[in-house]
Amino acid sequence: MNKNEVLKKFFGYDSFRKGQEILINSMLQGRDVLGIMPTGAGKSLCYQIPALMFSGITLVISPLISLMKDQVRALNEAGIHAAYINSSLTERQIVMALANAKNGQYKIIYVAPERLETGGFLDFAMNAEISMVTVDEAHCISQWGQDFRPSYLNIVKLIATLPKRPVVSAFTATATQSVKDDIICVLGLKEPDILVTGFDRENLYFGVNEIKQKSDYVLNYVKTHKEESGVIYCATRKNVDMVYEILKNKSISVTKYHAGLSAEERRENQDAFIYDEKPVIVATNAFGMGINKSNVRYVIHYNMPQSLENYYQEAGRAGRDGERADCILLYSAQDVMINKYLLENKEVRADMTIEESLAVQERDRKRLQSMTYYSTTKDCLREYILKYFGEKAQCRCENCSNCLADFEERDVTSEAVHIIECVRELRERFGINVVIGVLRGDKKSRLLSYGFDKLQSYGAEKESSEKYLKQVFHELVTGKYLYTTEDRYELVRLTKEGANLAGSGQKIKIKISKQAEVQKQQEGKKRQKQRISDVLTSRGFDLFEKLREVRFQLAKEEGMPPYIIASDKTLADMCVKLPFCKEEMLEVSGVGENKYQKYGEAFLTAIREFVNGKKEILYYEKLNTEKEGSKLKKKGKKNLN
Ligand code: ADP
Ligand code: MG
Repeated sequence: MNKNEVLKKFFGYDSFRKGQEILINSMLQGRDVLGIMPTGAGKSLCYQIPALMFSGITLVISPLISLMKDQVRALNEAGIHAAYINSSLTERQIVMALANAKNGQYKIIYVAPERLETGGFLDFAMNAEISMVTVDEAHCISQWGQDFRPSYLNIVKLIATLPKRPVVSAFTATATQSVKDDIICVLGLKEPDILVTGFDRENLYFGVNEIKQKSDYVLNYVKTHKEESGVIYCATRKNVDMVYEILKNKSISVTKYHAGLSAEERRENQDAFIYDEKPVIVATNAFGMGINKSNVRYVIHYNMPQSLENYYQEAGRAGRDGERADCILLYSAQDVMINKYLLENKEVRADMTIEESLAVQERDRKRLQSMTYYSTTKDCLREYILKYFGEKAQCRCENCSNCLADFEERDVTSEAVHIIECVRELRERFGINVVIGVLRGDKKSRLLSYGFDKLQSYGAEKESSEKYLKQVFHELVTGKYLYTTEDRYELVRLTKEGANLAGSGQKIKIKISKQAEVQKQQEGKKRQKQRISDVLTSRGFDLFEKLREVRFQLAKEEGMPPYIIASDKTLADMCVKLPFCKEEMLEVSGVGENKYQKYGEAFLTAIREFVNGKKEILYYEKLNTEKEGSKLKKKGKKNLN
């Protein structure tokens, strides 16, 4: 079988995605590779396909038990012999698994890095044919990464002791240069082929809403997306409990997750979510690592996280199946205060020197600042994210709340000059809150005790709101007229450009949203078009719902998460292609031979019943399936030639 046949037979897909093919080819030629691709890009297939084609075994090192379980389950469902070896097994089970592995029963074996050093495992590895060692979540090997795992260093030793050096492949979604360098160097990749695909997740809609009544918003959103699965992230346990109660009281099928729950409760709640029994979960950021649920249709942040790194990772748990999904951040200025407080009171790690911990604090502050700018910018949100991660981006994505909102540009040069003059008068020795307080003529005793009411600037912007002045301030920072010091006081300072702004003829402009309401309406209108429910006619959507029930039942019988049986995307494709027989069913994206054997008939019966055995067209013309997408791309290429 060639790689396309393997893709079709086992995974039911017709074509490779961006980058997958290149990496697979390199591995098949015996070359080391490093694949850096965003979440949901399909990194697993990159190593699973060559693993199936190599003569020997592929070892996959993975940091989390839940990830391994999920992957092995999915592989077994696809009819591939795979197993995992980690601390969730008893010693007896481990001995059995290793014996099976020795007998060549598994093509792919997932191992926790801690296992690599144990005698039983080494004994197996030395005597087996290991064709490839794959390091998933490879950023864990880097001290610079967010989740450094010292046990990942065992991988290097293992590779060195194997009788024959296998192909080594590494995958991660973390793209910073230092992490990349670490992976290559520490793992000892040999002239690796490195592929970095863009960080953009086209199927995700990004939105920021600055609102006071956050819980009303959440309730309303969840109610209007009732059939869908979603995550609501809150900053604190208290908020989780509160939002959870509100939703539960309105009979939403919801569960919750935070570190204050017992391990038992956490597992139960997580399972209820994964198995779609409770499709909505309210959680702190303790939730999500190792969750591969592909049909999460929205991630709402009730509070602003501490960094864009965190935000993009958490929000990125939406839409792993490639179908449209929403990432919405509910912002309030208070979140900034809370986060600052949390950072200032963060425990200092005992193993750090004072310099190191100061450097970390400074980094955290910078990150929080960038996160705050994301929450308040009026420019394209996607552009902001991509630039932050060091990528070029288009100025308008037309799929974020800013691109879809109506703004008017306002000349704020005079306000800007007032701010700058005030900073100068304060001798650059105060933070933005004092600057704005002075400009607005606040009567706070602190300002008066310094005698700031005698300043020229005092009350110069009496009529402007704090929020408005902050927006002008952000524009001045973005335009490099002002900057803030990187210590905890964040004193506002002038750059040369700032000092010379007045009288330079330069204009400062900001975008003001004409009407907050317009934004909401447009969000609804434009975005909805791209959802499954808009690709399908309403009857088509009824069938989709029906198939979802079938999937839920099958999942229950099998004790398996529904998304492992079929993704939302696969169900949607069934509604479009309306298969009546085996051949037609195998045409559906995501239905491989093994899946067909197990579940094909159940879906076919439901489909036939639904349309009474007569073919119908249940979709609008603009298709949204993976297969069609790649066809369109192919057409595009031909035209270029
Ligand atoms: P990552 O590890 O990069 O976050 P996964 O390997 O979990 O992503 O894949 C995400 C989803 O994309 C899975 O549901 C997978 O089946 C699907 N997928 C991967 N490759 C393809 C492909 N070529 N065609 C269609 N779907 C794919
Ligand atoms: Mg992965």
